[in-house]
Amino acid sequence: MQSEKDKKAKLYSRYPLSSVLIYNGTTILHFLLGGIGIALGYSFSPWAYTFGVLYLVLSFVEMYVVMPLTVCPNCVYYRAKDSLCVSGLNVLSKKIAKEGDLKDFPRRAAGLFCPNNLYLASLIVPILAMIPALIVNFSVVLLLIFLGVVGLLLFRFFIIFSRIACLHCRAKYECPQAGAMGVRNR
Ligand code: SF4
Repeated sequence: MQSEKDKKAKLYSRYPLSSVLIYNGTTILHFLLGGIGIALGYSFSPWAYTFGVLYLVLSFVEMYVVMPLTVCPNCVYYRAKDSLCVSGLNVLSKKIAKEGDLKDFPRRAAGLFCPNNLYLASLIVPILAMIPALIVNFSVVLLLIFLGVVGLLLFRFFIIFSRIACLHCRAKYECPQAGAMGVRNR
């Protein structure tokens, strides 16, 4: 008889390259469109370009510097031989950060300015910033960018997290995000 564990989704030690490309492609596109949307939406301000670039830099730093320095060293993928997590950041983390402690992995969601909240903020900020811009400086291009970023956020939550990334993640039993997405027992 098939055990409960066998019926669950396969856990990847190495994610397929397609998953890594989808995850990072979606992330980079989200940040780029977000930065362009902010700059375009506030084009009436001399600070528009600065705001857009600032968002772009902060979001990339949060994802590709803060995460591998603070979260990844405590993750199971950091220490598993020949592993590749869905973001591929475990490989980068091994090059730039010292190994942490598995017990500390859930701390990624502890505190107001924790890496998880900064990550969410980097995804949501451009959407929030574009809403007033759409009212005061409407253009069809800005509306399309706004809809694109909202679509990417929904795609991340309902397809990437729940079907491509967290569902197959070896860290899902410790990761607070997997708990929030309800994929631990699938
Ligand atoms: S469960 Fe999801 S958020 Fe948590 S480490 Fe794995 S892929 Fe990342």
